[in-house]
Amino acid sequence: MQFFTIHELSRSHKAATLGIDNTPPNDVVLNLTALVINVLDPVRAAMGKPIRVTSGYRCPELNARIPGASSDSQHTKGEAADIVIAKGGKWDNYLLGCAIVRLGNFDQVIFENVGKDDLLPDWIHVSWKRTGTNRHEIRKHVKGSGPIEQKKRKTGKTIRKSTNFGQNIL
Ligand SMILES: [Zn+2]
Repeated sequence: MQFFTIHELSRSHKAATLGIDNTPPNDVVLNLTALVINVLDPVRAAMGKPIRVTSGYRCPELNARIPGASSDSQHTKGEAADIVIAKGGKWDNYLLGCAIVRLGNFDQVIFENVGKDDLLPDWIHVSWKRTGTNRHEIRKHVKGSGPIEQKKRKTGKTIRKSTNFGQNIL
């Protein structure tokens, strides 16, 4: 853990406002630590620029209060973080996503809120599984492409609507 702290990966203004205790349990701390060591620290070093975590761990109670968040989100396990280049723009975030892909250690990278005809994201969602198989999925979610989440009728679970565009973006 060189560039990130558990505190910045679990603090939440929304949780504080709602009076929700978002303190990560031990297994979540282990997952967050693995996310930093395997993904966040290496990409921070590669970019040479500060990275801001806009959302890291979200306890289930907090996650349920986030509009559009999937109920089985990896954020609830400490496996995912939403990140941006500090004081950067969409191009910086695009390069950040590409850098993670190039470094090769990730479970899922989602270029979030990209335009219909570009791959410039408002933020990057990245995950890492400490246990189990990392899927190496690269996805985008297009801004304004309809509801972010769709209710799965059978299970009642919310799922994210995003497009897998493979690894050919580089
Ligand atoms: Zn996310």
